[in-house]
Amino acid sequence: MTDISKELREKFKSKYTIYDATIEKKLISKIDSTIKYLFKLYDGEFIESVLMKYNHGYSICVSTQVGCKMGCKFCATGKGGFSRNLHPSEIISQIHTAQKDNNIRISNVVLMGMGEPLDNYDNVVKFLKLISSHQGLNIGMRHISVSTCGIVDKIYKLADEGLQVTLSISLHETDNEKRSKIMPINNKWKIEEIIKACNYYFLKTNRRVSFEYTLIKNVNDSKQHAKNLIKLLKGMNCYVNIIPINNIDGGIYKQCTRSEVICFCNMLINAGITATIRRTLGSDINASCGQLKAKSAKNVEGDKVEST
Ligand code: SAH
Ligand code: SF4
Repeated sequence: MTDISKELREKFKSKYTIYDATIEKKLISKIDSTIKYLFKLYDGEFIESVLMKYNHGYSICVSTQVGCKMGCKFCATGKGGFSRNLHPSEIISQIHTAQKDNNIRISNVVLMGMGEPLDNYDNVVKFLKLISSHQGLNIGMRHISVSTCGIVDKIYKLADEGLQVTLSISLHETDNEKRSKIMPINNKWKIEEIIKACNYYFLKTNRRVSFEYTLIKNVNDSKQHAKNLIKLLKGMNCYVNIIPINNIDGGIYKQCTRSEVICFCNMLINAGITATIRRTLGSDINASCGQLKAKSAKNVEGDKVEST
């Protein structure tokens, strides 16, 4: 920063350090050019981000924590346990480094990588304010989605921040007992409490809430499940994103067939609920955000995909 005095630069240098996420590994999909990054942090921890190209521009899925405490049974990150929160700069760094690496501007950001954003609330809100600032990356709040497994008190808090981000709820089940079995957070915050918080979020922000429904064979994919989902969401200003589950290493959860996924989605649409099936990008590089998992560089080399 040559536009500030040398003394001030020295002072900054003695007081602060700038850490950047460095690219440890990069996997490029041969199918659609989606890129999965393995970033190394200053303390040797690893996180992953996924860069996707859509017709409307570039979108990045970023991590908010190293690991996750929430322990969802179907999630690779959850299985690996929790290490630490990311600083706002480390979340920004994922975007910044991906932009620099590809000489592009990223216009959409989803907080759906490793970690539970609302479990790192203060840093995530700081990050949201920084990237949407004109002096920052100038990414519009409306182009940012925050995904949560349902930390209800923090949903209320986020609603009161007055930010315009899209709230995404990872629902996956409509029955409390069954949801608690696959998502332990449900023992603390029940589905009804999440729905109430979503209605409050809509009231405060006027932003339609999105529900992620990861379809798992013989677990949450029956006609009755679709009917229950319709009953739960009927009349809400929301939309549903159906995600075919990604099998994780040694996982017992299996994918539905394409026609089963379509059938489930159509049941929602026919009942007047806006629903889409998540486009699968980077399927050859395990790129789906829900499957993000910090692997050691050694393991990544083991993947049978092009790595640079
Ligand atoms: N912790 C946040 C955000 C990160 S997870 C959350 O849970 O919402 C991002 C999304 O991926 C969530 O909807 C999560 O339920 C989903 N997910 C996790 N594991 C998955 C898997 N194996 N296949 C498909 N989606 C998965
Ligand atoms: Fe954490 Fe989200 Fe994975 Fe659950 S799905 S363990 S909340 S990252």
